[in-house]
Amino acid sequence: MTITDARQHLDVDLLAWLERAPHLQSQDVGVIGRDGGTFDVVDAGTGVPILTLGVASGQEVDAAVTRARASLEDGRWSEADADHREAVLLRLASLVERDFETLVTIEALDTGKPRAEAFYDIREVAMVLRYYAGWCTKVSGDTVAAPRRFAASTLRGPVGVCAAITPWNYPLPILMYKVAPALAFGNSFVAKPSELAPLSALYFAELCAEAGVPDGVLTILTGTGATGAALASHPGLDKMAFTGSTRTGRAVMRAAADNSTRVTLELGGKSPNIVFASADLEAAAAGVAAGIWTNAGQVCVAGSRLLVESSIADEFVTLLAERTRPIALGHALEPGSEMGPMISAAQLEKAEATIALALAEGATAVTGGTTLGRSGYFLEPTVLTGLPTDHRISQEEIFGPVLVVDTFDSEQEATAKGNATPYGLAAGVWTTRSGQGQRMARALSAGSVWINTYGVFHPTLPFGGTKSSGFGRELGRAAVDAYTETTTVVEDIGLA
Ligand code: NDP
Repeated sequence: MTITDARQHLDVDLLAWLERAPHLQSQDVGVIGRDGGTFDVVDAGTGVPILTLGVASGQEVDAAVTRARASLEDGRWSEADADHREAVLLRLASLVERDFETLVTIEALDTGKPRAEAFYDIREVAMVLRYYAGWCTKVSGDTVAAPRRFAASTLRGPVGVCAAITPWNYPLPILMYKVAPALAFGNSFVAKPSELAPLSALYFAELCAEAGVPDGVLTILTGTGATGAALASHPGLDKMAFTGSTRTGRAVMRAAADNSTRVTLELGGKSPNIVFASADLEAAAAGVAAGIWTNAGQVCVAGSRLLVESSIADEFVTLLAERTRPIALGHALEPGSEMGPMISAAQLEKAEATIALALAEGATAVTGGTTLGRSGYFLEPTVLTGLPTDHRISQEEIFGPVLVVDTFDSEQEATAKGNATPYGLAAGVWTTRSGQGQRMARALSAGSVWINTYGVFHPTLPFGGTKSSGFGRELGRAAVDAYTETTTVVEDIGLA
């Protein structure tokens, strides 16, 4: 089955929601975006527009931040008892689970990823909401040891008006890494999802209203990069959490600096998957394949560089190619589809151009290298060998299904090559030698190091980068500090 018009494969309820989505702002569910023009939301699997949304103008961005500030000050959420916020977040998680299939389809359609992959994304959304619901009642200040004369303690309150600018590859999970802890600790929130995949954020806004999140506490701005730029430079924000490219992240940071807005940045990567000769090669091949082909390689932690010990390089690349060639590319809604398209024509062209350059400069394509020759932005999973670590193809994030292979002869060389990019987001190490994985974890510049596994995400595990991959950590306990403000209280109690 080849899908040419995804709408023909949607149920009536979802079709009705897609009709309604452009008009949500008139229904007071915290969606703003009308005055700055329009943009089409495109099905990446066919190239066909699904619907048209409004772009939030600068004035509408201002209105969203003002709305958030007013909601913070009225105290209905920011000063609500923690167990009330817990109950609302748990209800929200239950609503996500109630509408699970719908959200899976929306996310698959909007991003192009197969429904089977979107399943894990939406499951993670509910898990993150439940995890931070649990934190609501667990966060409190401390009693602090100060000189005897004083009684000293700390209070923990919300940071204030928090904002997020989020990308298209994992739209709702990445939004949830930010929204769930922010709401748990009483903040108000303004989010600008990517124009390439904004739909699940709109659906989520409706669920928030249904769950009992008060008006103004969450606002979704629909729009483009210009909307994001207006939000990033708004003086009314207390915190900005950005996930996306390093280039845009730096622009967001510059804009925030003018207003002393605190920033966390989760940016790109060029993460190495490092396979030692001692590794279980079948398991490593499965892990390396999943690490790069998941979401068609459009993953910030994609293991897009394979570093393999020279003595097993040929054998391992053969194993990997055998796993790669049968992967079924297809539309998100096609049964049996194992890998979707890239998100846009622009991303596809960029990846194709990079592959062409690599081939022209001496690379060999072990698999792939070409598009599918059907509508939609499909690129075959591509394994390239034969270029040195300092070649552009091993240094720049492609954000597509392209794996570059390099070899090493010692742990030291593996470390040096693993660290030899501007990025530091993640790394994988495959070995059965005692202590080797732990030594590598200490030597690699990466926010996450996975040993004999890859790409493990869980609400309890802090996530973020080093170097050009950004700073700050999301998920886990780290988000408690990110979304709470500490006030130190000192009282003179008159003891000598
Ligand atoms: P961007 O960094 O441009 O987009 C991320 C978010 O920032 C989107 O919501 C985007 O809005 C918004 N944005 C765009 N321009 C501005 C601006 N000037 N100020 C504030 N916000 C802005 O990434 P792209 O979508 O263009 O992807 C390009 C590259 O980024 C990829 O090839 C990949 O290398 C990297 N990337 C990394 C991700 C990660 O998880 N670390 C995720 C996505 C991309 P809009 O989409 O509406 O333009």
